[in-house]
Parts: sequence; structure tokens; C-alpha cells
Amino acid sequence: MRIETITCPDCGTVLAANVLESERVLKCPGLECEAVHRFADLPEEVQRHYETNADSYRMD
Ligand SMILES: [Zn+2]
Repeated sequence: MRIETITCPDCGTVLAANVLESERVLKCPGLECEAVHRFADLPEEVQRHYETNADSYRMD
């Protein structure tokens, strides 16, 4: 299983893309950072990876 990460362009906080995949929209966890990250903003290749492998990431 591959874990993609994204880096906030505003504060440099690294986020796991699979969290973004389940939440779809996530406020940046960075301290005092107001950036909002969206799954739709991920590179197309990363989005496709999660859509193709969605079952591997289910926690239940
Ligand atoms: Zn941030």
C-alpha cells in the first residue's frame, strides 16, 4: 500500500493524502494556518490512485 503525502504550500505541514481522501475537504492542521486542502486539488494521478484502490484504505 502506498501512502501519498501532500505538503501545505502555506506552512509546510505534511498531510497524508488518505485522510484527505476520506474527508474530501480538510482545514490545514498547521499551527495558525488557514489553508484548506481539498481532495480535488491533489494531482490527478494521486486522485486516480485512491479511486482505483479505495478498498485497500477502508478501515472496517
Ligand atoms: Zn498549512
